[in-house]
Amino acid sequence: MSKPVTITDVKVILTAPEGINLVVIKVETSEPGLYGLGCGTFTQRYLTVATAVNDYLRDFLIGKDVANIEDIWQTSQVHSSWRNGPSLNNALSGVDMALWDIAGKRAGMPVYDLLGGKTREAAAVYRHADGKDVHEVEDNVRKFMDQGLLYIRCQMGGYGGRVSELSRAENTPPGSYFDPHQYARDTVKVFEHVRSTIGNDIELLHDVHERLAPIEAVRLSKNLQKYRLFFLEDALAPEQVEWFKIMRQQSTTPVAMGELFVNPQEWLHLISNRLIDFIRCHISTIGGITPAKKLAHYCEGFSVRTAWHGPGDVSPVGHAANLHLDLSSANFGVQEWYGPSDVIREVFPGTPELRRGYLYPNSNPGLGIDIDERLAAKFPCDNSKSVPNMWTTARTRDGASARP
Ligand code: MG
Repeated sequence: MSKPVTITDVKVILTAPEGINLVVIKVETSEPGLYGLGCGTFTQRYLTVATAVNDYLRDFLIGKDVANIEDIWQTSQVHSSWRNGPSLNNALSGVDMALWDIAGKRAGMPVYDLLGGKTREAAAVYRHADGKDVHEVEDNVRKFMDQGLLYIRCQMGGYGGRVSELSRAENTPPGSYFDPHQYARDTVKVFEHVRSTIGNDIELLHDVHERLAPIEAVRLSKNLQKYRLFFLEDALAPEQVEWFKIMRQQSTTPVAMGELFVNPQEWLHLISNRLIDFIRCHISTIGGITPAKKLAHYCEGFSVRTAWHGPGDVSPVGHAANLHLDLSSANFGVQEWYGPSDVIREVFPGTPELRRGYLYPNSNPGLGIDIDERLAAKFPCDNSKSVPNMWTTARTRDGASARP
């Protein structure tokens, strides 16, 4: 029997080519030149992920056989006894994706082939069209349609909309201000306008981003029913998922949920009771490819589709992992895509390519993505941005804290 290939080092690479703090984990092996990359990006708390890897996982993992992905996932997860939190899950994900990358490189196969092979040639994506008024939203929807997009998420004035300084209570602290009632009314106007001007030949989506009281979210879902959304995203905060039972009884607007989920207990009953239509976890925040593939399989039994989270605070390594899951999952729904800049493509050669609404992988072994570490080092992360973080400091007109 040949000698096992073992882990010789686990490194944390912190980089912010677009000003967004990214965490990439590099697992090095006993085979010269063989390494894997994984995404552990938790942009608001990236140093906690780095600490979890550098000070805890690294020594635990050195010497382990890279082939034992499942065992490494299981033992790493319980190594801290307490588990299922976003920081430790991201650290675990960085290692897990890197091990899948290594497995693919050793086999000479893309990861989607290891996961069962392609069920489709490319993944349809949705992009995000925002605007200050309904006309600007319409213009931006048309721009994406011209690029061949088939799915477009419409927002107006950012998540929850925006309110003017004048309508705020006196002496309110800094924050991202919105009015949930105005936001809910405006959102209906956006879809009324877009459907009446553009028609029905495009799939439209919307992200509530947990900005409404549960009963208002139910009402919005009902009010949007006639505009035939592809899905309504994160309409409730993770703490309020029991309200999905009521939403289901009131509306046929499809439900997508799970961006903030970290623990299987948050999704199992929603899926088995058919209370959601799309699961859209942030893959690194649930622990990587290993748990995501299991989650996709679990969803398949209930005809729930996948729509993995894909914003700018997922590294290109994480986007590649999303794509390999999309291609190999029979119950893939749609993939969120943010449109990386040229500098991201230089730092991360192999970043997936979008053409006419579809995201394509390359056929390189593993995740098919690399990092130029020298170039990455020229874009250091900036922790000072994590502290004020205005958009997660959401507030309503009177200055009260709200879910972001
Ligand atoms: Mg979202």
